[in-house]
Formats: sequence, C-alpha cells, structure tokens
Amino acid sequence: MGKTYKIAVFPGDGIGKEIVPQALRVLNAVASKHNINIKTADALIGGSAIDEFGMPLPEDSLNLALNSDAVLLGAVGGPKWEGLDYSVRPERALLGLREKLRLYGNLRPVKLFSALADASSLKREVIDGIDIMVIRELTGGIYFGKPRGIEKTDGQEKGINTEVYTTSEIERIARLAFEVARGRRKNVCSVDKANVLESSELWRRIVSNVHKEYKDVELTHMYVDNCSMQLIRYPKQFDVILTTNMFGDILSDEAAMLTGSIGMLPSASIGGDVAMYEPIHGSAPDIAGQDKANPIATILSVGMMFKYSFKLDGACSVIDTAVTRVLEKGYRTPDIWSAGQKLTGTREMTDLILNEIE
Ligand code: NAD
Repeated sequence: MGKTYKIAVFPGDGIGKEIVPQALRVLNAVASKHNINIKTADALIGGSAIDEFGMPLPEDSLNLALNSDAVLLGAVGGPKWEGLDYSVRPERALLGLREKLRLYGNLRPVKLFSALADASSLKREVIDGIDIMVIRELTGGIYFGKPRGIEKTDGQEKGINTEVYTTSEIERIARLAFEVARGRRKNVCSVDKANVLESSELWRRIVSNVHKEYKDVELTHMYVDNCSMQLIRYPKQFDVILTTNMFGDILSDEAAMLTGSIGMLPSASIGGDVAMYEPIHGSAPDIAGQDKANPIATILSVGMMFKYSFKLDGACSVIDTAVTRVLEKGYRTPDIWSAGQKLTGTREMTDLILNEIE
C-alpha cells in the first residue's frame, strides 16, 4: 500500500461551495484510476467561517492545512461580509494561509485550449498554442514592504509604500522558476524595472547569479512595460515569466485574459511544505447557487496538485486531456458559451469530464 495523501479542502463561499465538490469528484476518480490513496477533510474558511465562528481563518482550519500534504481551496468573500473591517474580512483567510504555509511562489499557467480560441478578445493566430507559466513572488515586494501608510504633512496627505526585496527572497523564487522551466521548454524571462528601480537592479543581478546553477535553462530579462506589450503582441515567445509580487499581480491577469475566461484558470501557491491549489477567480456571488459556475479552473487546480505536490504528472495529464476533449466536443458552461455550442451547468460539465477520465 502506497502513501496516503492528506488533502485539506476549503470550499469557502459562493460558487466555491459548488465547484469544489465537483473538483473532488474528479480528484477521487483520477486517484482511483491511478491507485493513489487520498484522504480529504474539509473545514470552513472565509465568510462561512465568520458566520459560524466569528473569524475568517479558525485555528482548526489552519491546523488542518498545516497537517496536510496539500490544500484545495474554492474562493472566499461576498457582499454579506463587505462591511466588515479589513482585519476580519473573508479575504484575510487567504493572506493567513499564504503566510502560515510560507507560500512565496504563485504559479499561474496560462494555456489556451484551442477549442476556446474564439472566446478570447485577441486573434486566433496570436494566441493559438500559447502555454505560459507566470511565476509571481507572493510574500515580498511592495505589498509587504515598510514603511507604508498615509501621513499628514505640510497641510496635505502623503501615501507611502516601499518595494523591498532581499537576496534570499529573490534567490528562492528564481530557483523555483528555473526548476519549473526544467520541466517545460527551459526558458525563463525575468521581468523587472531595472532601468529605474534599485530593487529591480538587485533582482536582475541575483536572478542572473542563480542562473549559473541552471545553465541548461535559457534566461532573458525584460522590462515590465515591454512585457505587458509583448504579452499582447506575441505571447508565444514566453515559456516561464518570473516576476515580483506587484508586476506579477498585474501581468498574470493580463496573461489570463489571453485565454478568454477567468473560469478556466487554475493556480498553485507553493514554497513551504504544504502547497495550496485554487482557481484564480473569486466567489462569483452573481451566479452562486445556480449551477452556472465553470468548474474547470478548480478541476485543473486538482491537476496541478497531482503534478506539483505529488509529482504525479500522468494524473495531471489525464485531467488536462479530459477537459480538452469535452471542450472539443462543444460543451460549454455559460461563461464560455457561444451560439451553436452545447450549454451545460456546473455538474453536467463535471459529469462529462468524468466520462472522459473513466
Ligand atoms: P469574481 O472572480 O468572483 O467574479 C468576476 C466575474 O467572473 C463575475 O461575473 C463572475 O460571475 C465571473 N466568474 C468568476 N468565476 C467564474 C466561474 N468559475 N464560472 C463562471 N463565471 C465566473 O470576482 P468579483 O466579483 O470581483 O469578487 C466576488 C467576491 O470574490 C469578492 O468578495 C472578492 O473579494 C472575492 N474574491 C475572492 C478571491 C479568492 O477567493 N481567491 C479572488 C478574487 C475575488
């Protein structure tokens, strides 16, 4: 009997409660097909946890995550909790998990399913075949740097944020990028603003130093303004994009839109002993409870879990292939539907994917 993988499951709020159970059906089907032992346990986080326990990340939920091999998360938040103070909002659960699990690297694959090329606002010939991995540093940079705040000076206000990176922070994310690139097309483009920012000058120098350990991988550097342009002009030039927290936040959303729908994109946050997998979208309160949510981003996140946490690339490919086939057969949830295609709900889309797996 092989290892049993323990997975903490946090459906969260809104459509999270619909898509996560569907993704678990896929997880169990792939696990049983590949003789992988899985043990899942779920707990509340976000708004649901606020309603039940008065806090977005109860200690029991955090401990469940810390004692697991991986975390699968849906989404948190919704209008019901919007009036609350920032310190106790549902979104704090995400920040708490990232911090406590030391998830310094966010991996967002941007891959176009050819059947969906027409759902993008860009021309088919520009996007067909794109397969990019955006690697965003997640726990440093301007979102965390000090000093920060709003001060009153000389009769006006001054807003301050500080972009800070240390050698070790840059080294670990650069290593992650080179390791990931080794499993892909062996090409890393490091994105910075080294022509203006000292923190970027250091970033570029340290990334180049780390690259000496990865001579089999090609490294290029690009300024962030040029990268934002190149992503639209000729996205196929990119394999792995490595960048800072804020640049990655912006560029990964831009890159995501190359593929057409937010409901298609998975993510992995890694770095510590336990990685976290979640769709990039939120809790979509406008469609929650109506069987309209696209479950594919969460299902592909399960695929990333197999690949990155359990090193089971074959199980990940099975999921990718099943999704590709269902899309090629013309089935679409409302977010990716257009005239002439077969409209499905959340559950039916998952049934179809399961049929392809089994
Ligand atoms: P959202 O991503 O929830 O929704 C944006 C739009 O995309 C909506 O029209 C929604 O219906 C659609 N959409 C999102 N996911 C979809 C899916 N799987 N299938 C079909 N359509 C989908 O962003 P928002 O509306 O700005 O935020 C709603 C709530 O989610 C807020 O409380 C926000 O703070 C929270 N949020 C959470 C996360 C997270 O948990 N990681 C991320 C972003 C936003």
